[in-house]
Amino acid sequence: MTNETMRAMWCEAPNQLELRQVPVHELGDDDVLVKVAYTAICPWDVRAFSGLSSAVAFPRILGHEVAGRVAAVGKNVRNLQVGQKVAPDMIIKCGTCRACRSGRANRCLRPTFLQYGGGYADYVRVPQRNVHVLRPQTSLKAAAFMEPLACVLRGQDMLRLYPGEVELVVGLGPIGLMHMQVARAFGARVIASDPIEARLEKARALGADWTVNPNETDLGQFIKEATDGWGADAIALTVGSARMVEDVVRHLAPGGRLNIFAGIYPKDQVHLDPNQIHYGEWIITGSADSTPENMARALSLIEAGIVQTEALVSHVLPLEQLGQGFEMVRNRTGHKIMIEVNGEAA
Ligand SMILES: [Zn+2]
Ligand SMILES: [Zn+2]
Repeated sequence: MTNETMRAMWCEAPNQLELRQVPVHELGDDDVLVKVAYTAICPWDVRAFSGLSSAVAFPRILGHEVAGRVAAVGKNVRNLQVGQKVAPDMIIKCGTCRACRSGRANRCLRPTFLQYGGGYADYVRVPQRNVHVLRPQTSLKAAAFMEPLACVLRGQDMLRLYPGEVELVVGLGPIGLMHMQVARAFGARVIASDPIEARLEKARALGADWTVNPNETDLGQFIKEATDGWGADAIALTVGSARMVEDVVRHLAPGGRLNIFAGIYPKDQVHLDPNQIHYGEWIITGSADSTPENMARALSLIEAGIVQTEALVSHVLPLEQLGQGFEMVRNRTGHKIMIEVNGEAA
């Protein structure tokens, strides 16, 4: 692959994007080169692109929700064939820090995130241990959701649902729509809340037990009626807002669990009555990113059809329209915006 070039949407600095020809990655002995089919846009990409994430250094190629096919392998890679469908995990954990060794690789102390450049390019390169192999019949568009679904699974694990419980999902972007499906797969009934009608419609199509527009209906009253006055056993808050934390926590039932799923920027404080937590025996949790185990489980839910992800794709744009895609995510247009890099029918 030496001397070859590839297309990449290059971010020289925040808010600067241009289509460039750059050298194709050189492969180390344990590396895998993946020809990118689809890379989905994550709100994180948009925040990083805007320069709002201090951890992100420029220049870089963004894009971490990737699916494609093996294009080449290093000489130590034995169990992958060129052409095989894969989903590369773009976050490389060190594997040896205290977090990695205590089941929390998502909080790895020495991660290399998109070290080699992300998925808004013809190729990505990852170590072979970061490659998840897909079944031949798996849709590459569906598999590009492995990473966000892995984060959702981590958040849902915190909620420890029992069958028959009621979960409130607040915010029905692609993330909320996946929370909803996972909660239902655990046997919970879901109240899905969002002020955008198209999102409520999508939630209904994907099996929400109840949908509520909180601008039109009193959410607290609605939850009371739906649960015979008990409250929500679990809440997944997918909207990054301290006011929303204060607002939704009061809907918890005794023993209720809240997952603060989204980061809150700019930084903020919440005001809570600790007596409510004490007497309500509430459990307030957070979750961030995902582990390699979460990724593997996410992929099996996609491949089993238990979580429908391809149904969340509202727009597919060519690579050079990435900037427009970022704008659409910023304006909450549609659901998931997918970039087709080297797309294919399957
Ligand atoms: Zn993501
Ligand atoms: Zn680590």
